[in-house]
Amino acid sequence: MANKDIELIKDGKRLDGRRFDELRNIKIKAGVLERADGSAYLEWGKNRVIAAVYGPRNLHPKFLQDPTKAYLRCTYNMAAFSVEDRKRPGPDRRSVEISKVTADALRCVVMLEKYPNAVIDVFIEILQADAGTRCAGLAAASVALAHAGIPMKDLVSTCTAGKIGDEVVVDLGKEEDNYGEADVPIAILPTKKEVVLLQMDGKLTREEFDKAYELAVDGATKVYEIQKAALAMVGGN
Ligand code: ADP
Repeated sequence: MANKDIELIKDGKRLDGRRFDELRNIKIKAGVLERADGSAYLEWGKNRVIAAVYGPRNLHPKFLQDPTKAYLRCTYNMAAFSVEDRKRPGPDRRSVEISKVTADALRCVVMLEKYPNAVIDVFIEILQADAGTRCAGLAAASVALAHAGIPMKDLVSTCTAGKIGDEVVVDLGKEEDNYGEADVPIAILPTKKEVVLLQMDGKLTREEFDKAYELAVDGATKVYEIQKAALAMVGGN
């Protein structure tokens, strides 16, 4: 990860000119796919993401059904053309991991007990990747679930923070993610500030971690406002 030869901060500014606490530009549009029950398109810097939700519908095969609640499953996929070199299509270790942590985070908010024996499918397609796609995908998926009209306790809002050079900064870009020291993606339920995803790649001291956590929560709170605005544009359903 870390590469001391690459200067990620020059004259107190990051490579793309951002301040340490500044997010990349984020745009979200809910209701972009006709044949999904809920959907969202999200741009986060150069990331481009579509999330689609199908269900709740009856789960097959039947032996997987749970009479007490719905089963929420998630598929995170990177398109072959989403990264610089063509990505080999199909699931890999990374996409299986991201699908799992995304589903775990979403299960914390969706009122699964309202739909016994059902399945809710969440698909996240990364059309263009530029660091932070697990956060971008989860933020889009949460809007798509709300757009599908599925009852939720809250939205899930996300952001990363990390260390580049000697500075702790929010929302790492591609070079910062590749050559920085550490990366901490988080997801929160914004009204209660409850954490539903927290991962860390690289090393941070306790103080640096606390600072990164604070920056990521502030970032996620800004993302929450953009998510709510996207849902308000379509009347929330
Ligand atoms: P995240 O996208 O959540 O930051 P990672 O830290 O695993 O997840 O990946 C960082 C970035 O590395 C991705 O956003 C993407 O731009 C790039 N990347 C990931 N997988 C590949 C791949 N197979 N080929 C090329 N680039 C990739």
